[in-house]
Parts: sequence; structure tokens; C-alpha cells
Amino acid sequence: TPDAIQADVLVLGAGPGGYTAAFRAADLGLRVVLVDKGDALGGTCLNVGCIPSKALLHAAKVLTEAEEMSAHGIKFTKPSIDLDALRNWKSNNVVDQLTGGLNQLAKQRSVQVIQGKGTFISSHELKVQTSDSATQIIKFTNAIIAVGSSPAILPGVPNDPRIMNSTKALALEDIPERLLVVGGGIIGLELGTVYDALGSRITIAERSPTLMKGSDKDVIRPLHRRMSKRFEKIMVNTVVDHVTPKEDGIHVGFSGDNNIEDEVFDKVLVAIGRKPNGHLVGAEHAGVYIDERGFIPVDKSMRTNVPHIFAIGDVVGNPMLAHKATHEGKIAAEVIAGHTTEFTASVIPSVAYTDPEIAWAGITENEAKERGIGVEVASFPWAASGRAMSINRTEGMTKLIFDKYTNQLLGAAIVGTNAGELITEAVLAIESSIKAWEIGQTIHPHPTLSETICFAAEMNLGTITDLY
Ligand code: FAD
Repeated sequence: TPDAIQADVLVLGAGPGGYTAAFRAADLGLRVVLVDKGDALGGTCLNVGCIPSKALLHAAKVLTEAEEMSAHGIKFTKPSIDLDALRNWKSNNVVDQLTGGLNQLAKQRSVQVIQGKGTFISSHELKVQTSDSATQIIKFTNAIIAVGSSPAILPGVPNDPRIMNSTKALALEDIPERLLVVGGGIIGLELGTVYDALGSRITIAERSPTLMKGSDKDVIRPLHRRMSKRFEKIMVNTVVDHVTPKEDGIHVGFSGDNNIEDEVFDKVLVAIGRKPNGHLVGAEHAGVYIDERGFIPVDKSMRTNVPHIFAIGDVVGNPMLAHKATHEGKIAAEVIAGHTTEFTASVIPSVAYTDPEIAWAGITENEAKERGIGVEVASFPWAASGRAMSINRTEGMTKLIFDKYTNQLLGAAIVGTNAGELITEAVLAIESSIKAWEIGQTIHPHPTLSETICFAAEMNLGTITDLY
């Protein structure tokens, strides 16, 4: 066995949380070792999450927009899809470029990267299985646990190559004729959007009463309506009873609002959520507390119950989002370097990159009702936006939620094309305690979709004079 490696900061897991923490700690002068068992840096997000899914969603958007312009004078012939070329573009041109870039960034900062599965063996030591026969011990002063999460599995579902999780769906093996997506959350709906555009007939089964559970109904409606037109079937309040692989396909039974004893699909995508990996890294040997679900609780400085061990990203709790992980990664690194930093952000935006996109930040109308917070809601329909009309996408809506008494912006939801790019203005406004009149008095460029934020604020103020 080689000698132990010494680290000021050991970072376990090189996803968005881990690599950000490692780079920040190195920039602050600390000796950093970054351990990941994957073939490439970047974690779930870069390898099998955010980035490859967005590449495929871009392809989907090109396909559907071309198809929809046929009603307005531009006709294309039916697209031919070269799945190998599409897969290569996603993997080689997009994912590999980004993960390769991370190696460069690590090298520039002298972050020592070690590939292998890490397990804590004490409060100051990690053992890494670097190959079948070799291990490496890392002795650390501080550690940051950034081991992320894994796809949750549907209990009782047998192993079959036709039953996929998100990673397998992103591998784009083929285009199934009929695809069942179990789970109407962000990941299921995004991947359903991709396969729909590529030519699959999509059925969605979601156990709660709406897609994207917890969101306001009026925000989901434009997406639900558009998906209903494109997809074969969307079933809410519907539970999957059995999934039985047979030679002629995957037989599935449903109950709830839809009682179906047996329906046959070519493939099934299970996208019912993700489970934190807290129980899988021996953190208990370091004295770190892990809750029964696998989350590692932390304080505002991202510290676990063990003062020199920190945790960040998906493994510390919801929402499981890359930008939350990176934000937390910076905090942990800075605290270790001796800065007084805390997690103080009041909102974490979420985006579903479906078509249309849904983006939201801060309080929802439902939540305001539940918590008894007095709010005023202003919803601006994109049918009255010149920009939305000129790009043939009028189904959207911009909804702002203001405090009834102070008129301060507390929440925002945008549904429509590019909603994910638009939400940041609302995020900044919420973080900055901005009031409706301040948004109304901010000059927005015309014609843009961003104007809908200004228009919604003016609606709230009763000062809106002209539309379009
Ligand atoms: P991860 O990215 O999960 O990284 C954890 C790393 O730890 C992995 O590389 C793993 O190999 C490593 N690891 C685990 N255990 C060990 C061990 N014992 N030893 C060594 N290494 C270990 N989020 C968004 O914000 N926007 C999106 O658009 C988005 N799209 C998504 C699409 C899909 C299909 C999926 C699945 C997720 C998506 N997410 C998205 C979520 C996002 O990927 C995660 O929130 C993010 O990756 C979490 O970062 P992390 O650093 O906590 O962990």
C-alpha cells in the first residue's frame, strides 16, 4: 500500500457541489484532494443529469418548432433522426467537453484528483478503492461530503433492459414506439418531452393530483394542455400496481383514477425521485449523523454534527438542484478557509426544461394560502405579449406574488418558452426585497418576454396602460 496522502480538505464526490468546493478551497490556498468513483468529473449533473438532458431537449425543441411552423407557411420534410450522431453530439461534444474542462481546472489549481470509491474509516481517514487490487488512504484535516443522490427504484419492479432509469434513458439506446413514464415530476416530464419529439408515443402516470406536484394549478395548466395534445395519455391520481416484463413488451397495471389491468409498453422509464447517498459512504465511521432517509443534516455553514466534516448538495436535502449544490460548495470551502460565511439565500429557483418551460422561485399561491400569508397575485397572460405572439408561443403566463401589505415580491412562477432564463430577474428582486412599483419602473426592452414581468407588476399596481 502506498503512503497515506495528506489533505487540508478532502472532498468526496466531484459533482457540481464537490468540484466547486474543491476549486474554491484550492483558490483559498488549501491543499485539496478530490475523490470520485466515476469515470469523469462532474457528477450526476454533467454526466447523466442536467447537461445531457438539456442537449437532448434542445434537439427536441428544434424538431417540434420546425413541425409547428408548418401551419404558418414553412414546411419541412419529415426529419430523419440519426440516433448515433445525436448520441455522439450529446456525449462527445457536450458532456466530454465540459468534464474534460473540469480536469484542466483541477490541474491549474493543483487539486489532486483520485478516482475510486471512497469510504470513511475514521473521523480523519478515508479509504479509496482505486482499482480491484489497490487502495489508497487519505488523511484529512477537514472533509466535505458531496456524494449526491441516486435514482429511486419502484419497489417490486424486476430487472429488465426495457425498464429504464434517467441514466439509461439519456443513453438513448433506441426510440421505443410506446414509452410509459412513471412519475410526472421534472425529470420524467423532461425525458418524456425528448422521446416525444424523437417519435415515441408517451404515457405519463403520476400518483399525485397534478403534474409537478406542489406547483400552482394555473402554472401547470399550459404545460399540461400542450403535453395532452402531443402525448398519448397523461394520467394523474394514478398508481402503478405492477410492472411485468413479457416477450411482447412490458405489461403494466394501474389503479386510482385510471383502473387499467394490463397495458403493454415497449419501454418504461421510472422517474419517481432521487434518494440521497448518505448511507453509502461509511460516514458513520467518521461519527457523522445520517438520517433514516439517507440525508446528512447540516447547519447554515454546511457543517455536520462533526465540526471538521461538512456536507453539501443533494445529500443534505431538497431541493436536489445543481445550483444549490454549487452555492453550498462555496460556503463549505470558505468556512473551512476561515471565512464567516453562511447560507443566507432566501430562495432557490427551480426550472423544468419542458416545452413550455416552468420556472419558479419563492412562495407559491398554494403555499401562501396554507401558511396564511396575505398576498396579491398578478398573472400576465402571454397571449397579450407581442414577443410571445411573434415567436408563435402565446400559451405562457407570468405570475407574480406580492405581499399584500408591503407590496414586496415574495414569489414568481413563469410558464412559457425560455421561462428558465426569465426567472432570474424575479430571483434577484425577491433577494433584494423589491416592491411591485420598482419592477414597474424598471425599463424592460421591447419586445421581449422579460416585459411580461414588468406587465405583471403593473397589473398589480393597476397602472398597466397598454399591452403588446
Ligand atoms: P452529484 O452530482 O450526484 O455528484 C456526486 C458524485 O459523488 C458523483 O460523481 C458520484 O460518482 C460521487 N460519489 C458518490 N459516492 C461516492 C463514493 N463512495 N466514492 C467516490 N465518489 C462517490 N439539477 C439542476 O439544477 N438543473 C437541471 O436541469 C437538472 N437536471 C437533471 C436531470 C436529470 C436527468 C437528473 C438525474 C438530475 C438533474 N438535476 C438537475 C439534479 C442535479 O444533477 C443534482 O442536483 C446535482 O448533480 C447534485 O450535485 P451534487 O454535487 O450534490 O452530487
